[in-house]
Amino acid sequence: MTTWTDPIDGRIGDRPLSLATPSGIDRAAHHRMDEAWLAAAWSHPTTRVFVVSGGRVLIDETSDGSTELVMTPSFEAPLTESHRYFLGTDDDGVSYFALQKDSLPGRMDQSARPAGLREAGLLLSPRDAGLMVHAVALENWQRLHRFCSRCGERTVIAAAGHVRRCPACGAEHYPRTDPAVIMLVTDDEDRALLGRQMHWPEGRFSTLAGFVEPGESIEQSVRREVLEEAGVVVGEVDYVASQPWPFPSSLMLGFMARALSSEITVDGEEISEARWFSRDELGAAFESGEVLPPYGISIAARLIELWYGKPLPKPTTAAI
Ligand SMILES: [Zn+2]
Repeated sequence: MTTWTDPIDGRIGDRPLSLATPSGIDRAAHHRMDEAWLAAAWSHPTTRVFVVSGGRVLIDETSDGSTELVMTPSFEAPLTESHRYFLGTDDDGVSYFALQKDSLPGRMDQSARPAGLREAGLLLSPRDAGLMVHAVALENWQRLHRFCSRCGERTVIAAAGHVRRCPACGAEHYPRTDPAVIMLVTDDEDRALLGRQMHWPEGRFSTLAGFVEPGESIEQSVRREVLEEAGVVVGEVDYVASQPWPFPSSLMLGFMARALSSEITVDGEEISEARWFSRDELGAAFESGEVLPPYGISIAARLIELWYGKPLPKPTTAAI
């Protein structure tokens, strides 16, 4: 059995998974219900706050050329018409909060600019990317769960953004995470199965992926998705690594999977085209531009690299 697993420090092989790299932030969940502690932390001069709105934040370039989340002291971050999420503390005792607002603050006089996670996740430090992915995931969940799923009443935010409570029936609702599987399937000739989703541009191929269904193990989900999307039967399934994927609320579970059959029949609904690639074929297809490598914050590129044995070439047009 091949051992692919190398998720230590959020890495696959020698490259980090941008959204899974340890952020150095202690989420300090025990403080979330402690209003006195939260109030003191909020007003502390070292506390740092950023605004999240519609999945976007403000980022800025520093003098050394790196990119950082735009954060301010709390006294510069008015609480009016916003929701406050406590995200945790760092080793120096600095507390971090996100404010969810209807819009990002205007910073047009400076170089700061708005960015979503797909862009910022590639640019920010592990600390800032970790803070952002936490805030975006909370915002997505809050936005879609404003009403009690038990009685239908409007719910209110509690636990510094990590719970929604129903004043009518007393139910507590917690942020949900939907597991999704993403897998690189290889065959007896060590070729890789890559597919093109219906809505992707011509030439863009990547790993197959799909949601775990109720009453299903993740291994069953890998086998079902590959069979449904490409008609290929999968046997052995090896877990590799995971990454948060708050678009809007998934957790991507990455696998290497071994095919027991090689004939491809695409479903024509999610996948329009699927092909087996040897390493040489894929390298040549990248070189000629026939195939566009997956790129970006997704674990897909890392799974393909793990099999390919070296970094994938950078595409001419950046896309997921
Ligand atoms: Zn209720």
